[in-house]
Amino acid sequence: MVKVHRQVVIIGAGIAGLWTLRRLVAAGYDAILLEQEAIGSGQTLGAQGILHGGVKYGLDGSNRDIAARLRSLPPIWLECLAGTREPSLSAARTLSPCQHLWAADSWLAKVGATVGARAMQGEVRKLDKTEWPEALTKGGHKGSVYELAETVIDVKSVLAALAAPVKDRIFLGKITGFQASSLQPGTADGLASIECGDVQFTSDVFLFMAATGNEEAAQSAGFGPAATQRRPLKQVMVRGKLPPLYGHCVTATPKPVVTITAHPMDDETVWYLGGGVAEDAVNLSDEDAILNAMNKLRAIFPEIPWKQFAWACWKVDRSEPNAASRLPDGPALLEAGNTALAWPTKLVYAPALADLALEFTARHVPTPTSPAQTSPAPASPAETIPLPGAPMGKFPWETAIWQTLK
Ligand SMILES: Cc1cc2nc3c(=O)[nH]c(=O)nc-3n(C[C@H](O)[C@H](O)[C@H](O)COP(=O)(O)OP(=O)(O)OC[C@H]3O[C@@H](n4cnc5c(N)ncnc54)[C@H](O)[C@@H]3O)c2cc1C
Repeated sequence: MVKVHRQVVIIGAGIAGLWTLRRLVAAGYDAILLEQEAIGSGQTLGAQGILHGGVKYGLDGSNRDIAARLRSLPPIWLECLAGTREPSLSAARTLSPCQHLWAADSWLAKVGATVGARAMQGEVRKLDKTEWPEALTKGGHKGSVYELAETVIDVKSVLAALAAPVKDRIFLGKITGFQASSLQPGTADGLASIECGDVQFTSDVFLFMAATGNEEAAQSAGFGPAATQRRPLKQVMVRGKLPPLYGHCVTATPKPVVTITAHPMDDETVWYLGGGVAEDAVNLSDEDAILNAMNKLRAIFPEIPWKQFAWACWKVDRSEPNAASRLPDGPALLEAGNTALAWPTKLVYAPALADLALEFTARHVPTPTSPAQTSPAPASPAETIPLPGAPMGKFPWETAIWQTLK
């Protein structure tokens, strides 16, 4: 068994692990990250890439806290995307600077005050028909269209920008063992080591940012099975010569019937369908999920010939701290001695979760090995780690099995 010591070991290379690694390295910590499969291969590459500013969550009034908390985060992301704040994401791509929200006029009566309040703050703007996105004009939408000041990112390019300066600190390795008995909430100790194949890692701090991989650690740590929850989704995808479109369709209720993001693939476009369509699909076969999605799209875009496109599904669990099967209020970090289990619960919360992880690390390791730096230095490992680097993962539409409907 090869023994390796680092100040911080992070488990999981989704948005949470990568953002936190960048922040820790910039603060001077000798940190590394272990990923079992590929960068982003959990939920992150399956995300729609919307930097939610909270408008969607404020519409029905039931998630006001979440809507308020989300407001402060997109500006941090925009500074990182512009390269004026660390971690710099200036090499990442933005798919759209805004989203749209389109609705039947009857819906407006229900949420008019909320939309009006957001409009006063410049977050929502009602569009003249001449400003509508092509998909809504040509697709035959009837009703109103709003523009939301919410950016949509290309998630893979964000992960690549986060990983590039620290790639020699990101290793391919599945945690195969840890001394669970030493993990107890409220104790000072925590984990002594974890094992990854033939390598045993000791560390001052272990950060589990492994989504479903956090569950075993949560149970071992005595937080109990009730500490975590999974909320399943089955995203539906449709591929063809489709115009770009980003946003939510709402009809009778403020909860979106469908949330659409558009992603280039070869010389075509994939519409990635979330919202109500993905929730309905969880208990349906792929074929029925596709039919359901097609019927919803047909009602919104009667002019688009949906049957001629290729379709696919992708099932995923949103893995989160327990919030009684609802969307948690924000990012969460549970502590057990030197070990923390953490979940961002949304891409957009990654900077806020990294703040919590830095604060936790600083309490356990007051002195980083190097002085803080504005851009992360390459790794200078004291001992070589005999594990390969983790590769970049794939988007769901890159591995999907596509079908056409008869
Ligand atoms: C369909 C969908 C759409 C979404 N859309 C949006 C959106 O538009 N905007 C938004 O803000 N949020 C969105 N989200 C939420 C967002 O994607 C997640 O909150 C976020 O990606 C979670 O990141 P993470 O790093 O915690 O987890 P993950 O991305 O799941 O990463 C965890 C990593 O840990 C690794 N791992 C697990 N176990 C081990 C182990 N034992 N050893 C080593 N590695 C391990 C996994 O392989 C994985 O790579 C969406 C989520 C889903 C499912």
